[in-house]
Amino acid sequence: MEEKLYDMIVIGGGPAGYTAALYGVRSGLSVLVLEKLSAGGQMTNTEQIDNYPGFPEGISGFELGERMQQGALRFGAENQFSEVKSVDLSGKIKIVRTRKKEFHARTVVIATGAYPRKTGVEGEDRLAGRGIAYCAACDGMFYKDKTVAVYGGGNSAVEDALLLSRICRKVYLIHRRDALRAVKVYQDALFQSSVELVWNSRVTGFLSEDRLTGVELTDTKTGEKRQLALDGLFVSIGRIPDTKLFEGQAAMDEAGYLAADETTCTNLPGVFAAGDVRTKQLRQVVTAAADGAMAAWSAEQYLAGEV
Ligand code: NAP
Repeated sequence: MEEKLYDMIVIGGGPAGYTAALYGVRSGLSVLVLEKLSAGGQMTNTEQIDNYPGFPEGISGFELGERMQQGALRFGAENQFSEVKSVDLSGKIKIVRTRKKEFHARTVVIATGAYPRKTGVEGEDRLAGRGIAYCAACDGMFYKDKTVAVYGGGNSAVEDALLLSRICRKVYLIHRRDALRAVKVYQDALFQSSVELVWNSRVTGFLSEDRLTGVELTDTKTGEKRQLALDGLFVSIGRIPDTKLFEGQAAMDEAGYLAADETTCTNLPGVFAAGDVRTKQLRQVVTAAADGAMAAWSAEQYLAGEV
């Protein structure tokens, strides 16, 4: 049997991916979404999203992800849960391979997002899941009434610290500088909370038996080292774009984000980058969704020009 040739394959089932799929199918394109685990991408790690318009009471990231998926499937988008292993995006027919199958399409929307950055400190991989975690919304409850720290100074770190302060006995926020990167509204909430700030400190070692028992901190001003006893450390020091698959094919910036402007067009004809994976100023659910719509529109234009 001949393989189906899709008008569009979307790689990644987050807000960018499912919005691209929704706009694609509603324009009459045949669309397949390939996603790794569950709909929603990184936003499933967010307990409550309060800045996506239309949800005055807020909505859980998981539920918003599912709703976006349902919206696209309702109009006929197909989806499959499988991890893409390799791609060939240079020709007119794009090839996308999972472990079991090869898919073909006339356009590809890359919406693979970004994943948590690691500290790079010795022992991190061994202790991941044994006291080191990367998602407070997912793993916070394992640390109920315990002492934990969040590492980082951005919106995610502050959001995580606030969430954990409602669950844990004691929460520290460890940051390498003496000013947070997080926006004012988060900072205000943090300064009114019970979270204790540990400024000018880097995590330079892990203390452990079979689980994490604490961290070694190094003062970034004086170089002085000290230990902090902890049951858990939530690492929240930014994200790395999930673009390894596209190395050597699509143009990227020095941090590995796919080079594309507001049109979402990459250097490869018929290949579009949407959401957190793209070079952009503001990485939010709403900007990812906007990218998805734009990517579908750009794909449509490309397909119209191609015939
Ligand atoms: P981020 O904004 O890039 O912040 C990363 C934080 O980690 C910074 O404070 C940074 O320190 C620190 N850091 C980076 N590398 C480090 C290292 N090697 N060692 C120690 N500390 C390190 O990342 P994010 O908080 O994950 O947020 C990602 C994006 O999602 C942002 O655009 C953010 O605005 C957005 N976001 C939005 C919301 C919301 O609006 N509701 C919620 C969460 C995330 P420096 O400050 O010193 O650079």
